[in-house]
Amino acid sequence: MSEDTTDRGFTTAILHGDRASPIEHGALHKPLHLSVAYAYARAEDLVAVFQGRQSGYAYGRQGNPTTAALEAKVTAMEGGVATACFSTGMAAIEAILVALLTGGDHVVSSSFVFGNTNSLFNTFASHGTPVTFVDATDVANVERALTPATKLVFVETIANPRTQVADLERIGDLCRARGILYVVDNTMTSPWLFRPARVGAGLVVNALTKYIGGHGNALGGAVTDTGRFDWTRYPNIADNYRKQPPAMQGITQLRKKGLRDGGAALSAEQAHHLAVGAETLALRLDRQCANAMALAQFLASHPAVSAVHYPGLPTHAQHERARALFRAPGALLSFELAPGRNVLDALDAFRIVVLSSNLGDNRTLAIPVAQTIYWEMGAARRAEMGIADSLVRVSVGIEDRDDLIGDFRRALG
Ligand SMILES: *Cc1c(COP(=O)(O)O)cnc(C)c1O
Repeated sequence: MSEDTTDRGFTTAILHGDRASPIEHGALHKPLHLSVAYAYARAEDLVAVFQGRQSGYAYGRQGNPTTAALEAKVTAMEGGVATACFSTGMAAIEAILVALLTGGDHVVSSSFVFGNTNSLFNTFASHGTPVTFVDATDVANVERALTPATKLVFVETIANPRTQVADLERIGDLCRARGILYVVDNTMTSPWLFRPARVGAGLVVNALTKYIGGHGNALGGAVTDTGRFDWTRYPNIADNYRKQPPAMQGITQLRKKGLRDGGAALSAEQAHHLAVGAETLALRLDRQCANAMALAQFLASHPAVSAVHYPGLPTHAQHERARALFRAPGALLSFELAPGRNVLDALDAFRIVVLSSNLGDNRTLAIPVAQTIYWEMGAARRAEMGIADSLVRVSVGIEDRDDLIGDFRRALG
């Protein structure tokens, strides 16, 4: 972690964090706690847990010790004050909206967000929480969209699939000046490449499914409170949760209204898989970013490729911003084929790269965007978002670099 939380390095802290509190029998991994309910010897303790005066477990839907160990790990990785885990990344985002907004509140979101996040925001708009989508690569667009009812600004760090980098720092300054909750989805960078607390984010979302878990074998999501937002001035906190210390009011309401009432709890087994994956986050991602850089350079010089979108290339519109903010420019890129090339035929020639919709896996995954994940929105909206018919998204894995480049060389012919 950085100097502000502990003097241990990022990976050391992940590996040895669980044992900060003694684990049964000296186990090195936090055990799987599968019990749904928890017993108390004294009625007074049961009451105190229910009234939030004492920490403890009440019912599995609100958390369990295995998940709590993962929450502590994510909090440490993000340099935050508390984390709530959810069954998926989408559940984490939905919980923020359900728990912290009321009808009539207004949201400003980057238009370059994960497709399902975009769809979720539209659902919320239909329930009476209007959302304005703006090009968040420039803070001026965010500022113009603010209204007196704006309670929340939502951005991603590096957008998928076109890799736009939001104006993270200046949007943070704007939100701080206006007292607006700033939510940053850090999935594409993960806390190894970037900590949104640094630019003033109040809440950080991580889809644990992606780089933190890393192996494509478990779904999970997390919301971390960075301690940067003043909840005492946020009007939507219920009286009950005002009794908590100021720093805990937001996460308490999120845990109660979002997790307990919404019900998308992360199971102990999934939490275990994700925690094991997290141990090698820094190692995997360093290798993935190095592979992505090499692949981006290879594609940029290939005659069958007409455009490459990767923040590590000097031609990228936010290249300097990415250099200033992130440890590395991420492991996701996209590219367009030159006219006359059939995108599906090219993808069929891969022998190593996997045709799949996930990202953040150890394996390199590729998908034709317009025909799959952006199919439902239609051609007009795709054109607005700059999604060409030949656009291919690549989530770069940890394969040996020559094998990976060789597979692309073969596919591009
Ligand atoms: C995948 C993803 C999500 C959703 O995570 P799930 O665990 O699949 O629900 C949210 N945000 C971003 C940026 C993602 O890539």
